[in-house]
Amino acid sequence: MTDSYVYMKERIYTPGPTPLSEEARMAGAMPAEYHRTEAFAELLHSCRKRLAPLFGTKELPIILTSSGTGAMESCLASFTSAGDSILVIEAGKFGNRWYMLGETYECNVDRMVLEWGSTFEYGSIEQKLRQNPAIKAVFIQANETSTGVHHNIEQLAKEVRAVSKETLIIVDAISSICAHKCEMDAWDLDCVISGSQKGFGVPPGLAFVAVSQRAWSKLSKRPRFYFDLEREKKGQDAGKTAWTPANGLMHMLDRALDHIHNNGVAAVINHHRKSSIAVRKAIDALELPLFAKDHFSQALTAVRIDQEGLAPVLLKTMKKDFRMIFAGGQDHLKGKIIRIAHLGYFDFFDTLNAVAAFELALAKHGRGKACGKAVGAFMSSYTAD
Ligand SMILES: *Cc1c(COP(=O)(O)O)cnc(C)c1O
Repeated sequence: MTDSYVYMKERIYTPGPTPLSEEARMAGAMPAEYHRTEAFAELLHSCRKRLAPLFGTKELPIILTSSGTGAMESCLASFTSAGDSILVIEAGKFGNRWYMLGETYECNVDRMVLEWGSTFEYGSIEQKLRQNPAIKAVFIQANETSTGVHHNIEQLAKEVRAVSKETLIIVDAISSICAHKCEMDAWDLDCVISGSQKGFGVPPGLAFVAVSQRAWSKLSKRPRFYFDLEREKKGQDAGKTAWTPANGLMHMLDRALDHIHNNGVAAVINHHRKSSIAVRKAIDALELPLFAKDHFSQALTAVRIDQEGLAPVLLKTMKKDFRMIFAGGQDHLKGKIIRIAHLGYFDFFDTLNAVAAFELALAKHGRGKACGKAVGAFMSSYTAD
């Protein structure tokens, strides 16, 4: 393999950052620009307007200059007060982040800790809220990116609303927007969050938050400064961000959104659906188990590697021999899983490459022959519908 290294591209298959869209990369070459201008106001409005349908809302999402966690923190800080009871659904690394944020901001966190790789049992959210009527807000991920599980947000919202019309539903959809349908208004959600480096094919640095009217009516009195969502909303509705925006990234986002809307949101989501199904078929052909039990994410697939020590050598082989970067497991899943992203600007052939690399790396380490079994399963699944 090393002979052809000179003609080997570097490829990333991590569930964030994801590869940049070609359109976004071109826009990244723009000269510097001042942001207190009509042109910037138009760019801001145009991005917000075209983000909204991806969130399924008529509320224009606020664009923050931060990574996704900044938007998570700003939602928790803005819509809870110290001592408030909140429910956190924690089924992985990112669920745990809600827990840690809740603790940091001195909420009274009721933690629903689930086995990593699983999702909540239907009915359990409603039951929990009936048991603990003090709960003012529910925090969850749409995709738990550490495990490859998609939590059914529509179902969660139904259960919350069966008990209360006032409880806030705050969803970290950072790795879900573009890969899964999100219907914020129809499902009656209160905050939905995403970030530029996940489904959008834009570098890290922008976070998006859509906020419901109900949430605005419950703004907390906590002190805040940089992440003052109310100030941002007022400013952004008038074409101005409170602070210096990452306007270079916004030009890249603008082009990425053109691409998404030229194809249509439904087609973009369907591509993720087909890629994720086809990768699961390929993994099945390699006789490897998936980490998630069910409720598979369309943003990534987590593959369980039970053979002791195999996961790190596979990752190393793919990195060293093929220049392909995959994500392993986090925390106690380190060395136990490999995660393959579908989220963002991966075309059919990009993902085919990932499957081929997996098959080659496994063969190199004595697991089967590299005879195209997985590649074949991927191709026939993707092209079947
Ligand atoms: C990537 C990701 C985040 C945010 O991470 P940042 O590094 O702050 O952008 C949060 N939640 C989920 C589910 C994610 O996938």
